[in-house]
Amino acid sequence: MLLQGKKGLVVGVANKRSIAWAIAQAAHREGAQLAFTYQGERLKESVGELAAGLGGSSPLFECDVTNDVQMDQVFAGLKSTWGSLDFLVHAVAFAKREELEGEYLPTSREGFRLALDVSAYSLTALAQRAVPLMTAGGSIVAMTYYGAEKVIPRYNVMGVAKSALEASIRYLAFDVGPKKVRVNGVSAGPVQTLAARGISGFTDMMKIVEGKAPLRRNVQIEEVANAAAFLLSPLSSGITGEILYVDCGYNILGM
Ligand code: NAP
Repeated sequence: MLLQGKKGLVVGVANKRSIAWAIAQAAHREGAQLAFTYQGERLKESVGELAAGLGGSSPLFECDVTNDVQMDQVFAGLKSTWGSLDFLVHAVAFAKREELEGEYLPTSREGFRLALDVSAYSLTALAQRAVPLMTAGGSIVAMTYYGAEKVIPRYNVMGVAKSALEASIRYLAFDVGPKKVRVNGVSAGPVQTLAARGISGFTDMMKIVEGKAPLRRNVQIEEVANAAAFLLSPLSSGITGEILYVDCGYNILGM
């Protein structure tokens, strides 16, 4: 029960295959109380049903991470319901489908702006609101991918966004460390989710990892979730500003 008595907000559940949902299940198993956001009315019912399946009552808030008013409402709601917060899970990313095909070179100004706003700036915007509620310290974990560091064909603008996200993790960790709040990233190997299906050639990515990764397989979503639960928990109390790879070792390869 690594998270017994802890209260956390999970941002990024779209459906039962979402990495955010796997993290929520791991955090719940470890004793955490959870609140969730959903993006837009169309997801309210499905996220609400998943949350209800955990038993107990999980606060549920509408939140498009590009909408400052909605973000303010989420944290005002958490403050009035819980009074404080112990952790935040950021598992949100978006880029236009056409920006995740072919080359990076034709990336549009609007496509770049949108991908970086939703996938990178959102961590900073959420942290600004979460940290004041983390009065007893806290932990923030964001999901990232190796395309932040190395060229992964067709990952394109999302790789640039993940680079910005990873840099944000380090800068935020520096700023909020004195408040005993830690900020880390989990760099997951490819996992079949809704967002992943938007990346052209995703199935090929999985085959390449399976063939080459030291463990000769793709990562299981539960393994990603367990690593996130570790970073959310006091077991990782000395770790901040880090990116933890949960990719069956793929990132260590030179060739
Ligand atoms: P997912 O289930 O599709 O989750 C992505 C989430 O981002 C969805 O809940 C989506 O909501 C949400 N989102 C998009 N735009 C948003 C906005 N403007 N405001 C609020 N929420 C928004 O896919 P996932 O693979 O679990 O992705 C979770 C995180 O893991 C992402 O950061 C992703 O880059 C990262 N990651 C994934 C993999 C992988 O292989 N799957 C690997 C490494 C890292 P809607 O569905 O409503 O748009």
